[in-house]
Amino acid sequence: MSFTLLLAWFIVLPNEVIAKKKAPESKVIAVKLDGYVGQRIDNCIEQRVMAQDVEEIVDVFRRQDEIRNLWGTEFWGKWVQGAMSAYRYNHDSRIYNMVKDSEQKIMEFQLADGYIGNYDKDHQLKGWDVWGRKYVLLGLIKWYDLSGDKKALQAACKLADYTMTQIGEGKEHIYNTGSYYGMASGSILEPIMFLYNRTKEQKYLDFAQFLVKDAEEQGGAQLIALADVPVYLRHPIGNHLWYKENGQKAYEMMSCYVGLLELAKTTGRTDYIDIVEKVVRHIKDEEINLCGSGSANECWINGRKGQTLPAYHSMETCAGFTWMQLNERLWQLRKQAQYADNIEQTFYNAILASMKNDGSQIAKYTPLEGFRHEGENQCGLHINCCNANGPRAFAMIPRFAYHAEANTATINMYCPSEATLSLNGNNVTIKQTTDYPKTGEVTIEVAPSRETEFTIELRIPTWSEQSSVKVNGKDIPHVQAGTYATLQRTWRAGDRITLHLDMRTRLHELNHMQALTRGPIVLARDSRFDDGFVDEACIITQQDGIVEARPTDSDKDHWMTFEVEARTGTDRETIGKPRMLRFCDFASAGNTWDDHTRYRVWLTKTFYAKQEEHF
Ligand SMILES: [Zn+2]
Repeated sequence: MSFTLLLAWFIVLPNEVIAKKKAPESKVIAVKLDGYVGQRIDNCIEQRVMAQDVEEIVDVFRRQDEIRNLWGTEFWGKWVQGAMSAYRYNHDSRIYNMVKDSEQKIMEFQLADGYIGNYDKDHQLKGWDVWGRKYVLLGLIKWYDLSGDKKALQAACKLADYTMTQIGEGKEHIYNTGSYYGMASGSILEPIMFLYNRTKEQKYLDFAQFLVKDAEEQGGAQLIALADVPVYLRHPIGNHLWYKENGQKAYEMMSCYVGLLELAKTTGRTDYIDIVEKVVRHIKDEEINLCGSGSANECWINGRKGQTLPAYHSMETCAGFTWMQLNERLWQLRKQAQYADNIEQTFYNAILASMKNDGSQIAKYTPLEGFRHEGENQCGLHINCCNANGPRAFAMIPRFAYHAEANTATINMYCPSEATLSLNGNNVTIKQTTDYPKTGEVTIEVAPSRETEFTIELRIPTWSEQSSVKVNGKDIPHVQAGTYATLQRTWRAGDRITLHLDMRTRLHELNHMQALTRGPIVLARDSRFDDGFVDEACIITQQDGIVEARPTDSDKDHWMTFEVEARTGTDRETIGKPRMLRFCDFASAGNTWDDHTRYRVWLTKTFYAKQEEHF
């Protein structure tokens, strides 16, 4: 070998080595949320997730005698996903062991043909059978991801393979299985894509594409063809809520779009992402109420416009969680602040309100007025769909709060907390000190392990019209609501960001009623304040839509309380002088879970002849 060649060999080799060496992954290593939100998440994990009678929801799979089309097979898959998210957050080995035991038992209940479920052989594919299989698949696949247990992945493949012997080209249509134009069954798309991504076996991708195509046929939910149609207007509105011909079922519909995003992500079908964005816009504009949820009788109903009207079975917690999930997946793909805003709104209101004070129960419905109470027991078990699903919404928050990707750390949630992130192999600790959303002041200390350049993105919520960001006391220009403030610089330990968000209280008027929001928090009257009738008409004092809400000392029952001036009743001559009304955050309102405490978000606005147009 000549000297030149030898030299070339030396020069080339290190480059090759560098090329083969994978760039260090950027990720969130650890997060701990404190304060009120951190405490509520801990309560949910301890009192709801860990207190679950797992034996009962696993035992469902022991027998195959379901002939009533019930959904007993969904509970384990929901619970176990919440438990695994909780474990990923707090690393409590007791949760890990609970999950592990239950996974072993589920795998033991797999039949020789691959079936894991409780439906009688002749009743398979009916009712909620395929929906239940979806949750079993998710429970097994996510356990494989967490533990590396290949048996779990094999069991999932076997169950999927068995399902593919029954449904597919030349076999049964997905839309003929179960209710809601096959939307419940069709949401099996998500775990099928998970299987494809883990095994790379073409048959799973083929089946996923069949599911999408089949749903577009006459008789299917037509989730793509009807993307431009408001969700409450899809398909004729029938009398039966729980039957096949109900195309407005909120939770199941959104679950199908969650699956479609998984397919889009893998295949690069950005047109599918565009479709889901379009649908999410429809849902946001036409259905989502002030508290970030929607639906009545678990169906879309043009509910944003109709939110002032009391409705049966409104704001199902499963629907609220799935709305968060859909927004989380879209956020991962498009990184738009609006999706993070949606998650924050739903969490602080609909989801926090759904949990009982001690964390032991999650309500099925959290209406904008009434009293709070436990949901029913379902399928002969001591659990219901929302009690099983709700913890997934709580456990989402830590991973939603901080995100690390390439050279960027994103902060989506303001909460007293500490996070350790790895950005291209460089560890960064981020510590937030704040009592947000009681106030809009947030201090963020940044400590990289070594001085280095990277970007920190701060979510500036859409409602925060007047925001400011400072780094080490120096103002950052062009901070805009509904976007991320992007702070790219060389960060050093001891750097400090201060964020101010616009917490002015806003008045919302709809259908001659009024409601108040303060930052992400919806306010409500609560009969425990004993300050008059919560149902009484009033006119809230306001100036250009802004209301003076004076914080008052909170008591043990309420997270936040405020006083707001209003003129109550219909008398202006004697007793009807303006007076102070008390409000609290929606989550605290009525949280005694007894029928003595009544709360209310939308307050009837007194009609003032000569001051406003006749109706
Ligand atoms: Zn539910």
